[in-house]
Amino acid sequence: MSTTEQAASAAKEVDAFMTALAARNPGQSEFLQAVREVVESVMPLVLDRAAYRDERVLERLTEPDRVVTFRVAWIDDTGRVEVNRAFRVQFSNVIGPYKGGLRFHPTVNLSVLKFLGFEQIFKNSLTGLPMGGAKGGADFDPKGRSDREVMRFCQAMMTELYRHIGEDVDVPAGDIGVSGREIGYLFGHYRRIANRVAGVLTGKGVTYGGSLIRTEATGYGCVYFVENMLQHRADSMDGKTCVVSGSGNVALYTAEKAMQLGAKVVTLSDSEGFIYEPDGLTPEKLAWAKDLKEVRRGRLREYADHFKCEFRAGAVPWIVPCQVAFPSATQNEIGRADAELLVKNGCLAVGEGANMPSTIEATSVFLDAGVAFAPGKAANAGGVA
Ligand code: NDP
Repeated sequence: MSTTEQAASAAKEVDAFMTALAARNPGQSEFLQAVREVVESVMPLVLDRAAYRDERVLERLTEPDRVVTFRVAWIDDTGRVEVNRAFRVQFSNVIGPYKGGLRFHPTVNLSVLKFLGFEQIFKNSLTGLPMGGAKGGADFDPKGRSDREVMRFCQAMMTELYRHIGEDVDVPAGDIGVSGREIGYLFGHYRRIANRVAGVLTGKGVTYGGSLIRTEATGYGCVYFVENMLQHRADSMDGKTCVVSGSGNVALYTAEKAMQLGAKVVTLSDSEGFIYEPDGLTPEKLAWAKDLKEVRRGRLREYADHFKCEFRAGAVPWIVPCQVAFPSATQNEIGRADAELLVKNGCLAVGEGANMPSTIEATSVFLDAGVAFAPGKAANAGGVA
């Protein structure tokens, strides 16, 4: 077969595989997108190896080992009963115990957690460590909730979750909406009801068993990844203008490391818009932003009011010209048009701090334009490692 015929045959197989997968998983668009990305890339190999086809490796890889769905009922500060839905998707423990974060966000559903759990299999494996892939979370929104409410929610969630996890079974961590505070409440309740102290969650405080530099690891890792890619092109982060999206754990430490390597970080964002600092963030301004986000749990708009900088409400930062883009907020935040604009404005490298922040179309735009592209599965594995 000629190379063109091989490519056409692989594309046909991908379509057939995805049609069958979509029929089994109706409405799970994020999950189907994450699988397509992987299947498109590995199909030529699968077609080349009879054993992979005969043993149905792709079919087995795309069906989670187990999905647990459960009710979390808890009482808010007014005494009202609240009911949320929580999940743990244990995708694969072929190479080691399940491992992957917990997300608390109103958009959490089975499709989102299956996409994240599926990607986690490859991310964890890429670190070279024996860890399987999983993800979990709830449609609970911690925004605007008091510490006591978050505590009660976490305790109610752990009351069910504890029976599904364990240091040799499944080790959850943080993700969107789950930081040190939530991990602390979850871990404290696990300890109490299981009557044992074990490394059953990562992201704990260093005073009770957490690892040094875990908070910084994902953001720092992503920047180091991009720095290495640039070095392969005889270039570096030094002097680069960077656009960062998000203002949570990944974004803040991405900005910090980029600045330490001599780059100029001109944006941070949240779901309401982005701040634009044309001269770049300073260590003092970043420290203020960290306090705002990590301690006071405020909004970026407050940063703009405090420092009298521009706040573009309802906009995404990809409209700002940059040489390096660090999408660090959420999935599908860079579409085709955003990618085309980034390329047109001179973007040389993209480091995916978030999981699947670029759509498949956006990724193609970057690759076709020769942009150094660091996919999330590799670039944001710093926390796992
Ligand atoms: P955080 O909750 O700390 O921060 C999330 C940030 O993204 C916030 O600024 C939030 O803004 C913004 N955001 C979330 N959803 C949206 C949305 N729909 N539209 C616009 N902005 C949004 O989460 P993390 O920093 O931990 O996670 C960010 C990304 O990195 C996620 O994709 C996560 O899966 C990925 N990741 C995280 C790792 C970690 O170690 N924490 C490890 C590997 C990947 P707002 O406050 O307005 O919601």
